Amino acid sequence: MATIEIGVPVLIVGAGPAGLTASLALRRYGIDNLVIEQYPSTAHTPRAHIVNQRTVEILRHLGIEDRFHAVATPQRMMRNNLWVTSLAGREVARSETWGTSPERAGEYEAASPVPMANCPQTVLEPLLVEAARDAGADIRFQHVFESAKADEYGVTSTVLDRTAGDTLIVRSQYVLGADGARSAVLEQTGLTVDGPAGLAQAANIWFRADLSKYLAHRPGVLVWNVMPGPLAPLRLGTLICHKPWTEFVLAFIYDPAELDLATMSDAEQIARVRAAVGDDSLEVELKGLARWQVNAQVAPRYSTGRFFCLGDAVHRHPPSNGLGLNISVADAYNLAWKLALVLGGQADPALLETYSAERQPVGAAGVQRAITSLGELAEIDRALGLEPGQSVADGWAALRVLDEAGPDGDARRAALRKAVALTDYQFNAHGVELGYRYRSDAVLDDDSSDAPSDRDPELYYTATTHPGARVAHARLERAGVALSTLDLPAGLRFALLTGCGGEAWRDAAAGLPVDVHVIGTGDLLDPYGEWAARREVASTGAVLVRPDRHVAWRCERLPADPAAVLTEVVRHMLGPIPDPTTNRQE
Ligand SMILES: Cc1cc2nc3c(=O)[nH]c(=O)nc-3n(C[C@H](O)[C@H](O)[C@H](O)COP(=O)(O)OP(=O)(O)OC[C@H]3O[C@@H](n4cnc5c(N)ncnc54)[C@H](O)[C@@H]3O)c2cc1C
Repeated sequence: MATIEIGVPVLIVGAGPAGLTASLALRRYGIDNLVIEQYPSTAHTPRAHIVNQRTVEILRHLGIEDRFHAVATPQRMMRNNLWVTSLAGREVARSETWGTSPERAGEYEAASPVPMANCPQTVLEPLLVEAARDAGADIRFQHVFESAKADEYGVTSTVLDRTAGDTLIVRSQYVLGADGARSAVLEQTGLTVDGPAGLAQAANIWFRADLSKYLAHRPGVLVWNVMPGPLAPLRLGTLICHKPWTEFVLAFIYDPAELDLATMSDAEQIARVRAAVGDDSLEVELKGLARWQVNAQVAPRYSTGRFFCLGDAVHRHPPSNGLGLNISVADAYNLAWKLALVLGGQADPALLETYSAERQPVGAAGVQRAITSLGELAEIDRALGLEPGQSVADGWAALRVLDEAGPDGDARRAALRKAVALTDYQFNAHGVELGYRYRSDAVLDDDSSDAPSDRDPELYYTATTHPGARVAHARLERAGVALSTLDLPAGLRFALLTGCGGEAWRDAAAGLPVDVHVIGTGDLLDPYGEWAARREVASTGAVLVRPDRHVAWRCERLPADPAAVLTEVVRHMLGPIPDPTTNRQE
């Protein structure tokens, strides 16, 4: 048992989606990092699975979009949400989800160069490990973070190597707490979370079974059980498809006073799966049983000094809306470029303060949305006339009203459609997924008001170049190759997007970490006029996009002294930087 000393710029605790994304992104920016993970491997039970467009965009920018789509289930297979008495039994309601309905599909396609997909964490995490290692990351399993102490120059962390029994003393500039809902980093650094934990107890039965005959004609990810009887609201559970149509999770809320998960036998698990499917002779291969709980917690601050917490360490909420993994990946993406610029001496450490300022409101909104969505699901039961403690006979009688002619049946059917429409806030919440906007010192808001919209901003995403927003996607073309405005920033450089007549921005950017793209003229085409329609500034104006594809600043038209204006903007964001006039190439 030795004591080994290691020096690395960034120590990342936890090899979940947050830690692995941070590691891969940092390596893409040329920053060495060490990831330590307490367990022998990545997640061994399936958890999150909905991977939204923003996350796929991030995977694209990190160079693994193709590898991701090769293993993920495509969006067209995510179409149908079903509410059934059992999978083989009565279908009570159906809705189209994740932007697949005829009226939403075009909106999702117009908003992003990539589709969303369904990919269980058990598949995504190994992909991230492989990509990060290929990029040069040092990822060590069976290593437990124990403690850390910061001083003026860095952080000294103690890590136990569980296999060798060695103690690692890791000296780093920064420590990232990507260590999940029981974050030791959060606790040690004095950061806290607000809100209740353990609002409900839940379990996942992970199994293999061939359910093709029930789902191939109505493909989707989620099947909600509405079996009448006293089980409500502790129903048989929600079937979650992880691999069509052979691998699933049955997730259910349970009462620990009624069920001891630790002693739940294989036979009991199989019986529960068979009941949810409605097939007593279904062949079921069990793959695992895991417990989880419903929390509603968020940290008021995500960082302190040299410590930064991300992912479930700072926000914990139910899986409704499929936000947990997606917000965690975006936390990492937000932090990585800032750390890389600061470590590279290209930005003042004050830039790191903007991480918490930008991401905390997103986490808080995610927690709120997920909890609200969970509550809204109960409207389905109410609309159907299903009540907790109701007898089986009364429950079926309530369901039969759905098929009745006349005013009672009409009212029940109308109530059900209304309740199903409400679940759009969970399953078609495009605005929640893409529409958030940062406010911090790394954004220069021009306080311009948005074009008035009568559409609900949670349900609908509106493309914009408003500072703080993810830059509007527009389809472009260069030398016969299709690309998106989102593809224009490269590495740690900012992209300044301008149009015909905006060529003077090129000189203005000399010596700054800014690449100028004149769109719609020269070799960069705007073939459908999408950028012209979405840029919200004049052709000679500018939209400055950060490495994470959020808008830093925009300018309506070419100013008298664009170099002075742009230098001031970059200085505002990155802090004191060399005077561009001394670097400018004449
Ligand atoms: C059973 C379950 C089901 C879920 N279902 C969904 C879902 O359907 N949809 C959804 O959106 N979200 C779901 N979630 C949440 C989702 O999985 C998380 O939001 C996501 O995993 C967060 O990623 P993360 O990297 O922040 O944390 P995690 O994935 O929790 O990763 C943290 C990692 O840190 C490691 N670690 C912790 N402490 C230490 C230490 N001291 N030293 C070293 N390593 C350490 C852990 O072992 C873990 O591997 C579920 C979570 C669970 C547990």
